[in-house]
Amino acid sequence: MERVSIRTAPAYEAVVGRGLLRSAGELIAGAVGGRHALIAADEHVAPLYLETVRESMEAAGFRAEGWTFPAGEGAKTLATVEAMACEADARGLTRSDLFVALGGGVTGDLVGLAAALYLRGVDFVQIPTTLLAMADASVGGKTAANLPSGKNLVGAFHQPRLVICDPDTLETLPPAVYAEGMAEIIKHGAICDAGLLDRIRRGEEIEKIVADNIRIKAEVVSRDEKEKGPRQLLNLGHTFGHALEKLSGFTIYHGEGVSVGLCVAALAAEKKGLCPAGVYAELRELLAGAGLPVTTGFTAAQIAENAMNDKKRKGNTLTVVLPTGRGRSELFPIPAAELAGLIACCDGEVTGR
Ligand code: NAD
Repeated sequence: MERVSIRTAPAYEAVVGRGLLRSAGELIAGAVGGRHALIAADEHVAPLYLETVRESMEAAGFRAEGWTFPAGEGAKTLATVEAMACEADARGLTRSDLFVALGGGVTGDLVGLAAALYLRGVDFVQIPTTLLAMADASVGGKTAANLPSGKNLVGAFHQPRLVICDPDTLETLPPAVYAEGMAEIIKHGAICDAGLLDRIRRGEEIEKIVADNIRIKAEVVSRDEKEKGPRQLLNLGHTFGHALEKLSGFTIYHGEGVSVGLCVAALAAEKKGLCPAGVYAELRELLAGAGLPVTTGFTAAQIAENAMNDKKRKGNTLTVVLPTGRGRSELFPIPAAELAGLIACCDGEVTGR
């Protein structure tokens, strides 16, 4: 079992190991004080894993109850948060009890937000079951729901008390959902860990890769819990990726947008002389090897226009993350009007194909 400490306030641990779902109760009992738990899972994950977690928690002395909600991004709403809070209230959970998020990033974000709000904040534990949620979403304390006008527009920072990753759960993941997680993992390598890029290429055991990624995210998040500085590096590929998701009417997956977005960022950085040659080719090869798209029919101008509406934009300036070397990226504040010019060089190679 791999253990990673996340030094936020409060600090907590992420544990990674095959078969850990069956020890969830024992692990949770060691991390939280509460004894009555509501375990939330979506309708795909609940039949696969909820009973294992519930039984393990009961065996460790908890009163553990399950609650299921519809799967998918469409359920990531304040209505679902409210439904969960009502369920917790109906079952008598008190301020000292806890929520458990069992599932992908949607479940983690929703349950984390419900935990931040219910009785002004209760403890929660993350048990991520997608590669994206293990390697990225479950650590860092960002919780959110969507509004009709956009993704993640309401949320709170609320750190979990414990994160339990059992890579055995990845065996039931659809391949396209697995690939989305690989996009975020390759992104982490591109931000700050050239060695991780080597390990992905060698096909290292996924348990180690997940632990490496949690370490990277933990390091970045510990330095910048509320996303004011270095944490923005995690947005590498996302400014362009989000724009592509929007342009496609959300028919492409988030991870697919990030994959093409990484290619746009790397190629633009190379062509502008900000990054040595070879970085783009390597990222492109790793992403394509993971089954992710590396080109798009949308043009650089279309992407830039959409990216300018990014909610993280400050006035007329947009902070773009660009690779500046192998396993190294930096923040570049640029006037929004210059964005189209920055990525125009991608047309014909990554964009407009
Ligand atoms: P998801 O939670 O919708 O899971 C994807 C699909 O896989 C769902 O249909 C789910 O039911 C199914 N599934 C989950 N685990 C499974 C398993 N083990 N076996 C079979 N099916 C399984 O989506 P996701 O890709 O995990 O996460 C995307 C969400 O994460 C987005 O809403 C995004 O905004 C959020 N996110 C949050 C953060 C953060 O820091 N909080 C970071 C990145 C992404």
